[in-house]
Amino acid sequence: MIVMKFGGSSVADAERIRRVAEIVRAQLARKPVLVLSAMGDTTDHLLEAADDAYRKGLVSIDRIENLHLKALRDLKLSPEARKELSPLLKELQSLLSGISLIRELTPRTRDYLVSFGERLSVRITAAYLRSTGIKAKAYDAWELGFVSDSGFTEAKLIKESWSLIPEKIIPLVREGLLPVVTGFIAQDVNGNITTLGRGGSDFSATMIAASCKAEEAQVWKDVDGILTADPRIVKDAKPVETVTYEEAAELAYFGAQVLHPRAMEPCIKSGTPVLVKNSYNPPAPGTRIVPFFEKKTLPVRAITSRRNVTLVDIVSTRMVGQYGFLSEVFSAFARRRFSVDMVATSEVSVSLTLDAVHDLGEVRKELSQIASVDIRTGKAIVTIIGNVKRSSEILARAFRTCQLLGVTVQMVSQGASKVNISFIVNDTEAPEVVKALHMDFFDILEVPGKIEKTGPGKPAQAAGAAQSGKGGAV
Ligand code: ASP
Ligand code: MG
Repeated sequence: MIVMKFGGSSVADAERIRRVAEIVRAQLARKPVLVLSAMGDTTDHLLEAADDAYRKGLVSIDRIENLHLKALRDLKLSPEARKELSPLLKELQSLLSGISLIRELTPRTRDYLVSFGERLSVRITAAYLRSTGIKAKAYDAWELGFVSDSGFTEAKLIKESWSLIPEKIIPLVREGLLPVVTGFIAQDVNGNITTLGRGGSDFSATMIAASCKAEEAQVWKDVDGILTADPRIVKDAKPVETVTYEEAAELAYFGAQVLHPRAMEPCIKSGTPVLVKNSYNPPAPGTRIVPFFEKKTLPVRAITSRRNVTLVDIVSTRMVGQYGFLSEVFSAFARRRFSVDMVATSEVSVSLTLDAVHDLGEVRKELSQIASVDIRTGKAIVTIIGNVKRSSEILARAFRTCQLLGVTVQMVSQGASKVNISFIVNDTEAPEVVKALHMDFFDILEVPGKIEKTGPGKPAQAAGAAQSGKGGAV
């Protein structure tokens, strides 16, 4: 058995759904289970429709209805398929009317509302697969053991899901059925619909693969795999052939946007390999994510940036040797459920970063009683994912690059992770730093036995460092 997950742009319209069917057909012998996102930008459109109903009292499902009914027509599906969609569209319409009447939009209602995207897409795709002779059937994830807590908009599956999911799915696959399952959604123990966080269908897929001990989880996207950098910043960013789970998780978190940051968790437990493929370019090899592997000579695997973060410097006004300072600082953030990303500390100070979405007024007031607090917005985290056994070389080259660009590094963290070196620069400087680092670390020709620089004007010291580098497994 394998799990094949297709994201929104891979099922955006009839044409894309036909491509999905071809890709699935080619691997039918491997007994696939499909996991789908909502079609195209449907999740965003649903959230906009909810907002219109809530704020302006406007109720319209036109955009969503048109997209799905057009796909039905273009795929020449039978009236039965339409009958499967109609009740969902009606329910959606009533829900929006309800929101517009009571002018209330709780996280619970939002989750119920966005669930329609995935529920519609699995029904259309399963109907199309059936029309091509494949024994496919659509399922809402809660029919197949996806039970979560009640953390609406960011729910976590309860641990019983590890046994519930295979108990439901494995018999279906044995029967010769191809289950087409909604990604992203679940139900809590009271039967309320929940969602697993934006982009959460990657997690749904890896969870099925891991709990059913599938041979592999394939995540089909619209790019050729995990790239060495964001292609919008670095034009010649290349797909990375293999990465470890840890590297993939760090990359996802620090801005690579290819996989959901938590998608690696189930596979880390089970050791299931994940393959990231491009549904727009199926022959491309993609990126394979595995527990570990022997690294090649390149010290760096990929470079990412996380934009628009806020840097907070907190310097204790108490004496050196005090205890409890760090715990007071972190509990001020934790109590407000603010997620701190990067941290660097000294005896009397701590610097940390958060996404710019948080209002830090209260935290500042609270911490000002024990420390001087300096908050600076407009920063970016640049993250280098690589072989931290070669951290001195990576840091030397990265700092040299920043120096040549005239960019001041404002905080550094290597952390306990064996794969991540991160530093802070001004947000406006991030793209040029990423570009220059990419050029320094990747613009090289690999010759068996040694590495040579090809680009002109590289610092001699950096070229030397590359040549003397040894490979090593993490
Ligand atoms: N449709 C949801 C979203 O856009 C979940 C997903 O695509 O993974 O976030
Ligand atoms: Mg999506």
